[in-house]
Order: sequence, then C-alpha cells, then structure tokens
Amino acid sequence: MTIHKTGNIQPEIFRVTLGEFEISTLLDGIVQRDGPYPIFGSNKKESEVHELLRKNYLPETKFEHGFTPLIINTGKDLILFDTGNGKLNDNHGKLLNLIEKSGYNQQDITKIVISHCHPDHIGGLALINDGYFNNATIIIGETEYDSWKTGKNIPKQRKPNRELFEKICIPLSERMSFIKPDQEVVTGITAVNGFGHSPGHMCFNIESENKRIFYAADITNHYVVSMQVPDWHVMFDDDKDLAVESRKRILSMLAKEKVPMIGFHMPFPSIGYVEEKGTSSFNWLPISYQLSF
Ligand SMILES: [Zn+2]
Repeated sequence: MTIHKTGNIQPEIFRVTLGEFEISTLLDGIVQRDGPYPIFGSNKKESEVHELLRKNYLPETKFEHGFTPLIINTGKDLILFDTGNGKLNDNHGKLLNLIEKSGYNQQDITKIVISHCHPDHIGGLALINDGYFNNATIIIGETEYDSWKTGKNIPKQRKPNRELFEKICIPLSERMSFIKPDQEVVTGITAVNGFGHSPGHMCFNIESENKRIFYAADITNHYVVSMQVPDWHVMFDDDKDLAVESRKRILSMLAKEKVPMIGFHMPFPSIGYVEEKGTSSFNWLPISYQLSF
C-alpha cells in the first residue's frame, strides 16, 4: 500500500483581541527567493551575510518571503491593511479566500488602508474592478500617493511598479482619502511616519482600551537581517539611508515601549516583539500567548 502524501501545510489565519478590536493576520502567499544576499546586505560582503544566517540556523542562499495583510474589526469598521498580490502572481492572492474562511465578508470591509504602493501591497486593489470591496473607501498617505503620481523620489528600477500604480491606483483616486503622519484613520488608529522603504511609507499605531499594537508594514523585510543588522542596505528600500533611519527609530521605540509589532513580511502569524540586544541591534520574538488574556 502507498500512503498518499499531501505536502507542506502551514497556518494562514491568526486572530487576536486587543481591547475592543479584533485583529486578524491573513497569509496572502509565500515566495521562495534566492538570497538573502544581495537583496539584503548589498553594502556588505557576501560572506558576512552568510555568517549571520548560519548563526541564526537559516540557509545561506534561499529564503522565504511571506505577504501578510491584516484586518482590524473595531466593532464599527472592518479595516483591511494592505491588499497583498491580488492576481499579480499565480502562487499568491489568497486574500479573498482567507477573508471568507476567517468569518468575514469582503463586502463588509469599510476601509482599505495602503501602507505604501509597492506591488505586494496594492496588487489586491485591482480586485475592486472585479466587483469586490464595493463598500470600502481607500486611505493612502499623501506623500506616498503624490510621489508615485509625479514620479518624484521614485528610483529608476521602480518603473514597472510606477506603471502598475498608474494602472491600479489612479483610476481609484475618487474613492481615496489621503492622510499625513499623526492623523487618525479611525479613533485609536494613527498613522506614523515610516518614510524610506518607499517615499511616503506609513506605519500605524493601534490602540484600544489602553492596549497597543503597531503595524510596521515594511519597516523590516527579514526577521533576522532587518532586526539584527538594521543598518544593512536592502534592495527593496527605495531610499536606503532614510529607510535605515526609520527602521532604527521605530524598532528602538517598539523595544523600549515593549509594544508588539505586526510586520507584513515577518514569518506568519507576523506578530512579535522587538528586543533590543545592543546598540542598534534587535531580536524578533514571535508572539505566543501574550495577547490571549
Ligand atoms: Zn512589501
């Protein structure tokens, strides 16, 4: 007899309660890439990057990159943060399916917040043209939208990304509202300047009944490299120096204030704590049961 093999399985939906809010992370997909070097540590020697990975029990020439949109149910609003890849890649775009599996209806989403306009964050916005998310308004940072619209501070290698922005986002502009750092999305959810990864990349402080969590979006793109050596350059960062500055400022704040963080590219469920382990060096501590009480 041959016993049928079913392949790898991993969780794709995770939900925690924070005060009056319910927060769900949904794994839109995972991609396996060559690297992390030179995507990560392009200003370092290859051997140095390999050594860091070895020390952390990770392969030296392959890595996984997950995409994790989240949904916050405030009781009044159902807010989707970032939309994943949509139909941009056959292996991803599980978002719609997971929204339903998690017990929500995509038509009940009242707001879609876009942290920044890279493809893995705006890809799912194209679903609006297929009749999804009919009742949602879209919220994007003003600096981010203007930069992609005008092309100001958009690096040359992002040309296909800019074309995608023009195709997906510009036609939706009538449904959009634009925010600046320190402005509220709804009561308890405030935008925070995380510029650098993209020209107007935004993070969000989320607070309910004196409990806090922080959506850092793409401040970190790898749970070891971005945390332990935040100074190392990352190819995905549009302005390398500004991205390093924002990364260190936000990680340091989260470590000092012991606030849990949600990271779009952190290993699923993409929630964890940031521990300071020296000058400008941090560790990622994945969540276990801290938010169960
Ligand atoms: Zn991303």
